[in-house]
Amino acid sequence: MNIILLGAPGAGKGTQASKIAENYKLLHISTGDIFRANIKGGTEIGKLAKSYIDAGKLVPDEVTCKIVEDRLTWDDAKHGYMLDGFPRNLYQAQQLDKFANIDLCLNINVDEALLMDRICGRRVCSCGESYHVSTLNGATTCAKCGSELYQRADDNPDTVKARLETYNTQTAPLIDYYKSQGKLASVTSGKGSPDEVFEQIRKILDK
Ligand code: AMP
Repeated sequence: MNIILLGAPGAGKGTQASKIAENYKLLHISTGDIFRANIKGGTEIGKLAKSYIDAGKLVPDEVTCKIVEDRLTWDDAKHGYMLDGFPRNLYQAQQLDKFANIDLCLNINVDEALLMDRICGRRVCSCGESYHVSTLNGATTCAKCGSELYQRADDNPDTVKARLETYNTQTAPLIDYYKSQGKLASVTSGKGSPDEVFEQIRKILDK
C-alpha cells in the first residue's frame, strides 16, 4: 500500500506518520526530513533548500521530485510507503503519478486557528518524534530515545504565516486532485489527542 499524507503545517502529519509506520509497517518518507538532513550535512541540496525553507516557500519542483523519484527506487520502498510532505503542489502530484502508484491520499483536516499555536509550540527530536510544549511538563528530552528536543528554525510566527499561505494556495488544491481520482479519505484533527486521530485513520486503513 502506497499512501500520501496531506495536511497543513501543524496538522499532525509527522505524528500520525510515526503511528502508521509502527502499526502498518510502512516506510515513512518525509521530504522535510530529507531536506533538514541535507542542511545538517551541509550538502549542495541542503544549501539550496535552506533559503526556501527559511522563507516558508517550496523548494523547487525539479529538485524535490528528483529526490522522491530516487528514494522510491530503494529496496525498502518496495513493500509500501507513506509520503509525508510530498506532493505539495499540482505539478509534483502529476510527476508522482508518472513514477509511482498511489493507493490512497489521507487528508488531515484541522481548523486553521489551531495551527499557529501547534506549530510555534512544537518541539521535535532528531528521531522523528514531535511534542507540544504544553504536554512536556518542562522535559527537554525525547521520551522515546532520550535525545535533546529542539525547535525547528521554520517554526516561528513569520515563517509559519508564509507556510500556511503556501499551503492554502499551492497544496490545498491537491484535495480535489485526489478526490477526482477516487483516492481521497479525510480525517479531522481538532483538539482531540493524536491517538483519537489515529483511530479515525485506523478505520480507513483497515477497510
Ligand atoms: P515539512 O517538514 O514537511 O513541514 O517541510 C519543511 C519545509 O521543507 C517546507 O516548508 C518546504 O520549504 C520544504 N519542503 C518539504 N517538502 C517539500 C515539497 N514536497 N516541495 C517543496 N518543498 C518542500
